[in-house]
Amino acid sequence: AKNSGRNRFAWFDLSMERELQARNELEVGLRNAIPRQEIVPYFEQQIDLTTGRLSGFEVLARWEHATRGLIVPDTFIPIAEETGMIADLSLSLMRQAFLAAKDWDAALSLSVNISPSQLRDAWLAQKIIKVLTETGFPASRLEIEITETALFDNLPLAQSIVGSLKNQGIRLALDDFGTGYSSLAHLRALPFDRIKIDKSFIMSMTENTESAAIVTAITRLGDSLNLPITAEGIEDIAVEERLRGLGCGKGQGYLYGRPTSIANTRRLLAERRLL
Ligand code: C2E
Ligand code: CA
Ligand code: CA
Ligand code: CA
Repeated sequence: AKNSGRNRFAWFDLSMERELQARNELEVGLRNAIPRQEIVPYFEQQIDLTTGRLSGFEVLARWEHATRGLIVPDTFIPIAEETGMIADLSLSLMRQAFLAAKDWDAALSLSVNISPSQLRDAWLAQKIIKVLTETGFPASRLEIEITETALFDNLPLAQSIVGSLKNQGIRLALDDFGTGYSSLAHLRALPFDRIKIDKSFIMSMTENTESAAIVTAITRLGDSLNLPITAEGIEDIAVEERLRGLGCGKGQGYLYGRPTSIANTRRLLAERRLL
């Protein structure tokens, strides 16, 4: 028994070492991938639930890796955050997305995700506004999504950055609402224009009464605070219908389509005469 215990530890050491090595490879790779624009924007449709019309897209990062194929953000965003590369990654992604989307139908908006650590950069607003100016994408079509809030370690700075962004007409959404990182107190900290209900509640709301109650409560909260709601993670029509019944304004999820590349998004827009 003792022996097998020791073997088990040896195995753990080995797998931890492999994991560290894999992480290091990703970190080195990421450093080159950003300037080479291998981190590309994918677009997920956002639907106006009252009209059924496409209202815009959420921009989601993907790494088009030369040998490993498409890598999802949960694998590399945390590394980018820990190493400080997230700032460059984020601005590169915005530049690519704005250039692609500026000629799309003027009614279509873009929602981009910002890491809390980016709200510690006093120049963030200026940097984003510069990318908007250089690409010719209108600030009024941009929404910025923020989750959790390591930003509370310097709330005045975060508030001032957000103030500059909002002065330009950029809107602000509180992402993943209802999860531990994103809750009621955050609604008062920053001047949000929208709440996004986390997909964990939406995906379970037809089977789980607690989830359904939480979704109902959040939509009522949105009503009383005059904050429109986006529901993420809509996978079937039953959920869509319940959300419409609750007066939820916008929705996104696999029901409408998976996040997809610039080229595929252009094709989709051409079919709908939205180019
Ligand atoms: P998020 O902002 O909550 O984005 C929604 C995630 O849910 C996306 O995963 C999307 O593909 C997925 N999703 C959308 N609809 C459905 C559905 O119907 N069912 C299911 N099961 N999933 C759905 P993705 O693209 O893997 O992104 C994961 C997270 O990575 C995002 O969560 C966001 O927090 C982060 N992320 C992505 N791009 C960026 C970025 O450019 N900057 C930052 N800071 N974070 C990003
Ligand atoms: Ca988001
Ligand atoms: Ca979410
Ligand atoms: Ca998230």
